[in-house]
Amino acid sequence: MLVSTPIAQIPGIGTVTARRLNKLDLYTVGDLIMHLPFRYEDFSQQLRIADLESGLTANISGTIELIQNKRSPRRRMYLTEALINDGSDSLRILWFNQPFLTKNLHVGDEISLAGRVSEDYGGLVMQSPQYEKVNGKAIHTQGIVPVYHLSGPIAQKTLRTIISKVIDNARQINDWLPGQIRLKNNLETLAVALEQIHFPKTKVDLDNAKERLAFNELFLLQIRAQEQRLRFAKLQAPIINFNEIETKRFVSSLSFDLTADQKKASWEIIQDLQRPQPMLRLLQGDVGSGKTIVACLAMLNVALAKAQAACMVPTEILATQHFKTFTSLYKNEDITIALLTSGFQKIAKNGKEIESNKKEIAKKIAAGEIDIVVGTSSLIQKELEFKNLALAVVDEQHRFGVDQRKQLTEKVEAGGAPHLLSMTATPIPRSLALAIYGELDISTIKEMPLGRKQVLTKLVSNDKRPEMYEFVAKEIKAGNQAFVICPLIDESDTLGAASVKAEFERLDKTIFKEFKIGLLHGRLKSKEREEVMNKFANGELDILVATSIIEIGVDIPKATIMIIEDADRFGLAQLHQYRGRVGRRETQAFCFLLSRIEDQKSNHRMQAMMQFSSGFDLSKVDLQFRGPGEVYGLEQKGFPELRMANFYDTEMMNKAREAAIELITQDPSLNSFKDLQKELGEWQERAHLE
Ligand code: ADP
Ligand code: MG
Repeated sequence: MLVSTPIAQIPGIGTVTARRLNKLDLYTVGDLIMHLPFRYEDFSQQLRIADLESGLTANISGTIELIQNKRSPRRRMYLTEALINDGSDSLRILWFNQPFLTKNLHVGDEISLAGRVSEDYGGLVMQSPQYEKVNGKAIHTQGIVPVYHLSGPIAQKTLRTIISKVIDNARQINDWLPGQIRLKNNLETLAVALEQIHFPKTKVDLDNAKERLAFNELFLLQIRAQEQRLRFAKLQAPIINFNEIETKRFVSSLSFDLTADQKKASWEIIQDLQRPQPMLRLLQGDVGSGKTIVACLAMLNVALAKAQAACMVPTEILATQHFKTFTSLYKNEDITIALLTSGFQKIAKNGKEIESNKKEIAKKIAAGEIDIVVGTSSLIQKELEFKNLALAVVDEQHRFGVDQRKQLTEKVEAGGAPHLLSMTATPIPRSLALAIYGELDISTIKEMPLGRKQVLTKLVSNDKRPEMYEFVAKEIKAGNQAFVICPLIDESDTLGAASVKAEFERLDKTIFKEFKIGLLHGRLKSKEREEVMNKFANGELDILVATSIIEIGVDIPKATIMIIEDADRFGLAQLHQYRGRVGRRETQAFCFLLSRIEDQKSNHRMQAMMQFSSGFDLSKVDLQFRGPGEVYGLEQKGFPELRMANFYDTEMMNKAREAAIELITQDPSLNSFKDLQKELGEWQERAHLE
């Protein structure tokens, strides 16, 4: 047998089974070996029947003393009843509706069973256990038993049996990880890891196998990142000289002083821009930490150097807002700004904006008449031609999909190689960020601008709603504004979560009759959304009822209240983003968390929201309570390459990163590591197909 042998040629496998396996995308022996279990049953606790107790999950083996089918008197079903003796005692076994069992199992057979022991009127009994005849090695009922993803009519036991027949061929698979790296990191060989991931002898063996396979993925990810760094280092980027005098003048014209972290980040970026290789930098900083102004300093220098900058953001609302911010910040500069989204096209200079259209803007960008363009992903998707693009800024980069991120880097590589600045408001620990974004350099803004007060965060139970509304009314009368966030648009949800429409009606008609309330959700047209946002921003509206569309980056100076309905429905990163919409000035701001679930106290997210105000702290909490494959603000599904490895395993990420850097330094082309090269290619292919 070879790894490439088709499944139908495995002895004992018929064409029907082979075809069923094909449906699972399994065609060859090698595919079977690479079809990894998604969980395990632990039947490693082998017990004597005499020692069994009700409630235990155990594995026993013994001789069948009696086996017979019965019709259940009350319910219309078949019962198969058996007695198993292992020399210490006998145990009653029950199976339901499997009358064919008596054709397969006979008195005198040695069998192995695994399942839960319970107690009924007749004493101890094992109901519906897994079973197998013992002739040789038990693979279904003893030790740690693999469980595979199935589809169609193939049985778990069948697949397990087939894989056990071919697993020895794992030895033929090339171990592409260079030996030096494997030894240095104390990892199993690929063959051993694959054998043990399917049929581990012990928990330790299983852990070792998982470690090796997880390392594989992280190492490939890091090698790819390092290769990208090398490729970028060879590219020629426009040199943007630092215009110290103009930059200082601009900074001193601001209504605030930059924080030390803002200065440091700006300095790191400005230095990158002066190099002939493209910058690849991630700027991370909490919501409201003031990343925009850092990007503005970079773009200012680009414009002063007579080159162009593009700023890409995930939503139209944010694009519009940035356009306004830039227009006002650059009102005394000789800088022309354009807004380009599917809904809006505008041009601004010296603080004045005028309507335009796509064609005109595209033409002006190509002619170099626009210095800075703000837009959504249309900036990369459309065939937009720049005269002299020197800097691409991507705000809230984590909100862009893998594909868009890839498109962007490809565009950077292909055309003109501008410098790249990514910004994110879901900061994660530096080591993790380095590991995940191995190709990027990282700047971090940790401190908040001076004078920011923490947003007071409270859990509000339903009976305290009237008091909350009274308080909100008082705040609004004092000239402040409030957000109300609801998870849904319509009331179609059976779980009864608040919908914006219903909540809007309720607040508008009964609770806050005296105030002006706006409604914002994703089904409104862009123009309507802009109108509502504008009204809220310039104070024509007191309250804005919105869906999650509001989440990103919106900056409303007078908003001091954030009410989040059904807060339990949102993740920590999201809740933190919402809260970040308020408390952006010196006035005290408040965040009220509401939930229909009575026992909110037990919700660690609500507790964390009250306890912590920094995104860094919250990310640590989320790491502790992390759902499978989910890390604060990031979703592992954004990294389809990672199946075994976990984002939060920083230690292993770092090891993989070090190993990748070492190898690439030693042999940048990887030409002396042919197996690795081949695996890299296939891995990218596989990841791309999923
Ligand atoms: P984010 O990092 O979330 O993108 P922004 O850049 O939108 O944050 O900044 C939030 C608010 O803080 C803006 O209104 C901005 O003008 C203000 N701001 C930025 N830097 C400072 C500073 N150093 N001192 C005071 N306010 C600042
Ligand atoms: Mg921002």
